[in-house]
Amino acid sequence: MDAYKLVIIGSGPAAYTAGIYAGRANLFPLTFEGFYSGPSGGQLMTTTEVENYPGFPDGVMGPDLMMQFRAQAEKMGNKLLTEDVLSVDLSKHPFVVKGSKTTVEADAIIIATGATAKRLAIPGTRDGEFWQKGVTACAVCDGAAPIFRDKDLYVIGGGDSAVEEAIFLTKFGKKVFLVHRREELRASKVMAERALKHPKIEVLWNTVITEVKGDSVVRAVVIENLKTKEKSEREAGGVFFAVGHTPNTGFLGGQIAFEEDGYISVKPGTSYTSVEGVFAGGDVQDRVYRQAVTAAGSGCIAALDAERWLSHKGMI
Ligand code: NDP
Repeated sequence: MDAYKLVIIGSGPAAYTAGIYAGRANLFPLTFEGFYSGPSGGQLMTTTEVENYPGFPDGVMGPDLMMQFRAQAEKMGNKLLTEDVLSVDLSKHPFVVKGSKTTVEADAIIIATGATAKRLAIPGTRDGEFWQKGVTACAVCDGAAPIFRDKDLYVIGGGDSAVEEAIFLTKFGKKVFLVHRREELRASKVMAERALKHPKIEVLWNTVITEVKGDSVVRAVVIENLKTKEKSEREAGGVFFAVGHTPNTGFLGGQIAFEEDGYISVKPGTSYTSVEGVFAGGDVQDRVYRQAVTAAGSGCIAALDAERWLSHKGMI
């Protein structure tokens, strides 16, 4: 079995940034980029133009940005394996990381497997229907696309994300409808008040979307009031899921500490998890900021923490 000082698991901005820093520090890291779990590159691979990543005043396409991250990690000496991690054994040291084809030992591990935006199984929103043709799960990533300009846009959810996304979308849409299944927002008071006072936002209480319709792109939604059972079809240019995220941690088998909502617990301000020698960066431990640039920053923190830990333990 091959042995590595550092194994990185993931392939978004956090994982590749960790690879860049660890590679440059001569740790010769191995990164499992994943295969079946989605395209390597994480959530940016399914977005279009990224206008808020610093250093790109003219914007950059999400997949192009990730290819650059990846190339830079590789150039710094990061070995990349396009393979899913099936399980890890953190009960003994060195740790064992079992991929779909390759099993290796690791002195330290950085987990940067990200989170997946939840989607609801509404007819018309699935892959091959209007998913990415007006239906998305990230308004901040996709909202500025021309198809949403001056259209009625529908955000599903009642939490801080939904409110934040609705406010963001008011810059582009004609009107933004926040579709919430209850009659009280889950969002924090300040955020909720901003949405409720916003002239371009209307909350549809006790309401769900039961179908999304269109031609080549979204054209309409069917909504149902859960109290009155009344259904109606309305013109729509976009539907945005903001119903939470699921951190990708299944392969860990509960061997480290998680927060109640499934995100990995880290010591505040660091990437230290509950298991010594295991570090976490990016969206798998961040439910709040979830931006490419914050993920990259936390991947850097994880690499620096791992390097210092390995050095402190006399392993490098
Ligand atoms: P939340 O879990 O807080 O909210 C998810 C929302 O989706 C809820 O309103 C929920 O409804 C709704 N929902 C879930 N499942 C369904 C379903 N099947 N059908 C219809 N609606 C559904 O997720 P967020 O992503 O909004 O926030 C996650 C965390 O991140 C929170 O702690 C939040 O405070 C934080 N955050 C903070 C921000 C900030 O401070 N700027 C920005 C974004 C997030 P219901 O309320 O009925 O359960």
